[in-house]
Amino acid sequence: MADTMKRLKAILAEVTDIQRAGAVLDWDQETYMPPGGIQNRADQASTLSEVAHRRFTSDEVGLLLEEAETEVANEPFDSDDASIVRVARRDYELDRKLPPELVAEIAHAGSAARPHWQRARKEAKFEIFAPYLQRAVELNQRMAEALGYDKRPYDALLNRTEPGLTTDQLEAMFEELRTAIVPLVAGIARHADAVDDSVLHRGFDTDKQVQYALDTVVKLGYDLERGRQDISTHPFSIAFGPGDVRITTRVNRDFFNECLFGSIHEAGHGMYFQGIGRNIDRTPLWDGASPGVHESQSRLWENLVGRSLPFWNHFFPSLRETFPEPLRGVDAEGFYRAVNKSYPSFIRVEADEVTYNLHVLLRFELENDMLEGKLKVNDVPEAWNELFKSYFGLDVPNDREGALQDIHWSFIGFAEFPGYTLGNIIGAQFMEKIRAEMPDLDSQIGRGEFGPLLRWLQENVYQHGRKFTPNELVERVTGQPISPKPWIAYVRKKFGALYDLEPVKA
Ligand code: ZN
Repeated sequence: MADTMKRLKAILAEVTDIQRAGAVLDWDQETYMPPGGIQNRADQASTLSEVAHRRFTSDEVGLLLEEAETEVANEPFDSDDASIVRVARRDYELDRKLPPELVAEIAHAGSAARPHWQRARKEAKFEIFAPYLQRAVELNQRMAEALGYDKRPYDALLNRTEPGLTTDQLEAMFEELRTAIVPLVAGIARHADAVDDSVLHRGFDTDKQVQYALDTVVKLGYDLERGRQDISTHPFSIAFGPGDVRITTRVNRDFFNECLFGSIHEAGHGMYFQGIGRNIDRTPLWDGASPGVHESQSRLWENLVGRSLPFWNHFFPSLRETFPEPLRGVDAEGFYRAVNKSYPSFIRVEADEVTYNLHVLLRFELENDMLEGKLKVNDVPEAWNELFKSYFGLDVPNDREGALQDIHWSFIGFAEFPGYTLGNIIGAQFMEKIRAEMPDLDSQIGRGEFGPLLRWLQENVYQHGRKFTPNELVERVTGQPISPKPWIAYVRKKFGALYDLEPVKA
């Protein structure tokens, strides 16, 4: 009966509304909530997520899905209804497979581990965190068993975030990346003096930085009629629906990159959200295809557009007008070079375009080894430092700047890092396709015209939301499987020129 789709969609809309109401509370917590609000807010958040979870995983939804599957069986794969049913089924199965006790245990273990991780990091003593990491490994192993996998436990965890991707597929791509990046990093290190970024530290008025960043993202196409920018400790983007997509940024007087590139990054996520079709609003399709695909858009706007020479040819004159003092004696090309300085550093979140992926590769390898029982938790710092030395050529001075730096493991979150590297890869792949179809892209950017680029992305990527898996989307957009080759070609060319390196024979 044709009623089935209607009833299913009504429940899915309800679930979406509850989740979005929870998102408004999250946004408030990170921006304006007074510190005393934390306990009430935690209760509200857990109540809302429990209500949404119960509603979605009910037997009623299971029955409706079964009937709906018959109903849409003859519809095209990419039709709205067929896609809603297919994606809702995938989410439903995953949510039903995780026993509520395990979900509760993970949430509890996460909040219990956090203060110990903080203390361990502060004192740079891995032993303090080791028992909690051990617990995280066990919980992730149990989660992988509950979700099920054919080959490797990591597959089960990956399938939740990047559906369709396998550990083997990632491993092959990451190996290709490693082989290309390690010698590039060494080459850059030998020519380190070729790029001077001292201008970025000359002191930039913070109010003016925040305003300049907002003006810039509006020029790129972030719609303020349906968005706003606020300040938070860690920048993020968040969507409550097509009519309200917000971003945050942070600002540092003594380091220019944080505010402007933070804003462009989040606006990249924001424009993705703003471009998802209203026809799939209030359904499970209304979101980015995956964290990796989402990151492809933040990275595309931040790095492939925002850190390009044509971009600075256009924006530098207005930047110099805004900050005449710190920019005295600097030109567009000098500024372009400064914002692209590359150097190996210990901390992932501070890494530049070239070295960033190596940080991800290292974590991917260690997480797999821990899950598969090949690496004991007590041996993690040693394994970390050894890998770090072989990738970056540096000796890690202590665990704070090594194995203890990321918050993810304290939250029991494994298999979350690969999304960052997938984003870099997929962004470069889309850009290669865009350049083939829009050969004058650089002149457009140089003239400050971003409309055609944004429309291309809306039409080919954004409007579909979660209709396609990452593999399906990339194949559909570029005609190729996901591949690191375009990203490798891009960094070799760009950084080869910046650092005056010998061209690499492909
Ligand atoms: Zn991001």
